[in-house]
This record gives sequence, structure tokens and C-alpha cells, in this order.
Amino acid sequence: MAHANVMDKIVSLAKRRGFVFQSSEIYGGLGSVWDYGPLGVELKKNLKERWWRSMVYQRDDIEGVDAAILMHPKVWEASGHVSGFTDPLVDCKQCKHRFRADDPRLKGTPGEPDAQCPDCGTKGTLTAPRLFNLMFKTFIGPVEEQAAVVYLRPETAQGIYVNYLNVLQSSRQKIPFGIAQIGKAFRNEITPGNFTFRTREFEQMEMQFFVKPGEDERWFEEWKAARMQWHADLGITAAKLRFHPHAKDELAHYAKAAFDIEYEFPFGWQEFEGIHNRTDFDLGRHQEHSGKKLDYLDPATNTRFLPYIIETSLGADRLALVALVDAYTEEEVEGEQRVVLRFLPAIAPIKAGVFPLVKKDGMPEFATRLAADLRHHLTVFYDDGGSIGRRYRRQDEAGTPFGITVDGQTLEDQTVTVRDRDTLRQERVAADGVLAHLQARLVG
Ligand code: ATP
Repeated sequence: MAHANVMDKIVSLAKRRGFVFQSSEIYGGLGSVWDYGPLGVELKKNLKERWWRSMVYQRDDIEGVDAAILMHPKVWEASGHVSGFTDPLVDCKQCKHRFRADDPRLKGTPGEPDAQCPDCGTKGTLTAPRLFNLMFKTFIGPVEEQAAVVYLRPETAQGIYVNYLNVLQSSRQKIPFGIAQIGKAFRNEITPGNFTFRTREFEQMEMQFFVKPGEDERWFEEWKAARMQWHADLGITAAKLRFHPHAKDELAHYAKAAFDIEYEFPFGWQEFEGIHNRTDFDLGRHQEHSGKKLDYLDPATNTRFLPYIIETSLGADRLALVALVDAYTEEEVEGEQRVVLRFLPAIAPIKAGVFPLVKKDGMPEFATRLAADLRHHLTVFYDDGGSIGRRYRRQDEAGTPFGITVDGQTLEDQTVTVRDRDTLRQERVAADGVLAHLQARLVG
């Protein structure tokens, strides 16, 4: 499969089956903003719940928060985003198109007569690079004036830092401990693209772990390993996962060490999670800018210190894209081509399809009742339209791990067949034992 081709097929499947739609499509769409359809919303919700469970419920040293998107504008001065969250951009005065200064298609030196616009081909019309802030601005209250400017947060992390003391005091945690959050972030990206990979509105799943200075390097290693293992447990192809360490000149101003976790997309290796040792930069800056003491009194030694922070920052949309791309498989089955999404059953949007073999002899009634019972526990799709083979294929394309068929024998002995999406094996199972049968296969 040619690479561009695979991505095109995934984008078209995502639309056709209701995973992802272009935002405001009937108006021609909005650049790099996407909506999740019925299957996509389930996939992303399952991924977010899985992350939350592993961070907040399965550990006793991490607490959850849900901070507001709008924050005091001084937060973004303290964080460095007002002055530093910028990309250098080049404009073409002829065609008015904008490019990142590091766009490999730019030829010559922007601002000089030799530079050539990659889009319209005119020479000498590119401006010298100018800094462009990636934060979306809006106004709070009725007056649109400088004093009323607020930003849509470009990362969720700051909502954790400014609540660090509140959480520490209310939860009675002791260092080392972490705070986790899932929420929207906004960046006015200049070179968005590659479907949902780089969007202007996205969700992050971030965890900030507060540690004693000196113990930061050990915790950094621990979180690096834990995060990679988490993706492996999700069933992502091991050969398509790797770490990318940031070289000294790549490191953000706040970071002592940073590793990306990258996935090999059809368009190349790209980051989808970052693990950063942010030192005491964030709490130090917020202490300075707010005038509030944020240091920690260590009860063991009765000394005070400003905690270091190890951050794990994962994009929920990028993870959903990784899951979708990694699951996409084309294969030949019984002489026919099939497209199947091999999601880990636990994250599949629909867990089971329920099918009466034919639309008569009481089969639809039995199957409808079974589907209604299962719906109390699982996402289920009832389908009685078309040949059974076609109905299986439709669920294969949605990534549904199990197909339950009610047939002639069901009416005699109350058993149904359960078809496995991946092995295509069919087992006969008592109808009243189907739920337990599926649940045993949905763990993990
Ligand atoms: P990039 O280099 O791709 O712009 P970044 O290094 O700025 O990313 P971080 O600020 O570390 O990214 O953000 C952490 C995570 O948030 C990323 O690994 C990614 O999963 C997600 N993320 C960041 N920007 C976007 C975006 N524009 N669209 C979708 N997800 C994003």
C-alpha cells in the first residue's frame, strides 16, 4: 500500500463510518478543526477513560483536576507563553500565503531578492521571518480592550501548576505525588495538516508529577518506561513506537531533559506524547509572578524546597489517530478483500454486533431482546439488513470485536454463535452466558 494512499483510505473510512468529520463541513469546513462522529467519540472516550483509570484510579499518588480553559492572563506571562510561544513566519506579498520559516519548500533567504515563494513561484516577495504567537486571544467582559484580553489555553499543564497548593492541601498528598488532567487546548497552528495530527483545537491528557529535587532523574526514567509500556499494552505495534530524545538545542527553555514517544505514521515518524523534566521552572515562575509562596515543607526533614516537575503530555486526538492508523488492516478472507480495524477490544467503539441470521421465524425478536439486554453493559449494534457476510464486514470496518448471530438452532437450544473479528472463529455460546463470555474478552 502506497503511504499517501493508506492515509487517504483511512480519512475516507473515518468519514464514511462516522469516526471523524470536518468541522462545519456544510460551510466548506474550518481549517484544521475536526468533529468526532458516533464511532469516533466512543473511541476517544475509551482512550481517555483508559488513561484516567491508569493514572488516577490505579495509583494512590495521583489526583485528578478539571481546570477552566480561561485563566488569568498573568498565568501566560509567568509561563513564558506571551513572550515565547511563537513561530517565525514568512509572508508572500504576492499571493498572501504564509509559511513557517523552517518550511523546507522555501528557497533562498526570505526577505532577500533571491527567495522564491513555493506557492506562486514569484521571486523577491517573501518577507523576512516575523514572530507569530500561537495563542488564541479573546476578551472577557463587554469591552474589547487590551486590559480585557484573555487567552484560550495552549496547554492544560498551567491549570495544574496554579492548583498545585490547593490539591496538595485538600488531598493530604505528600511529595512525590502527581496531578492529572484531561482537557481542551488551542493553538493557532500555522502549518496544520495530516488529518487530525495537528489541529487548532485538541485535547491533552497531562500528568504533572511533583518530586524532590535530586530525585527528578529517577522519576523521569520511571515515567518514560511507564508511558511506553502503556502504549504497548494498548496493542500498538511495537516496531512503530520509539523514543526520540531532545538534543540540547531542541530542549524547551524550561526543560532539563525531554523525550518524545513517536509513532511511525504513513507520513513518517511523529511525536504523540512528550515526557519532560521541567525542573522547578513552573512553580518558580508562578511563585515570582503571583507573589504566593509555593514551596513545600518536607515533614521528614522539616526543610522547604520548590518541587521539580516530571510531565507526561499526551494528545488525546493524536492517540486516537495512532489507534486508528495502527488498527487499519486490509486483508483477503475467503477470497474476498476485507478492511478491518483491529482495535484492542477494550477500546473498540462498538463491542458487539447482534444479527438475526434471517428476518423471520422469531430470530429478529430473539436478537432484539438479546441486544437490549447487552446494551445495559456494552455498546451494541443491532443489524438485520443484508446478507450476514455483509453485516460482518460492516462491523469489521467499525472495529467491532464480536459478532453475535441468532440462527435456527438458537430457537431450539437458546445458544448463539459468537464470531471473533480477528480469528474469524465462531463459537456456540448459551445466550444467557454471552455477556460473561464477552466481558472476559474485553479486559486488558
Ligand atoms: P509539535 O512539535 O508536534 O508541535 P509540541 O512539542 O509543541 O508538538 P507539546 O507542547 O509537547 O507538543 O504537546 C504535548 C502533546 O500534545 C503532543 O505530543 C501532542 O500529542 C499534543 N499536541 C500538541 N499540539 C497539538 C496539535 N496542534 N494538534 C493535536 N495535538 C497536539
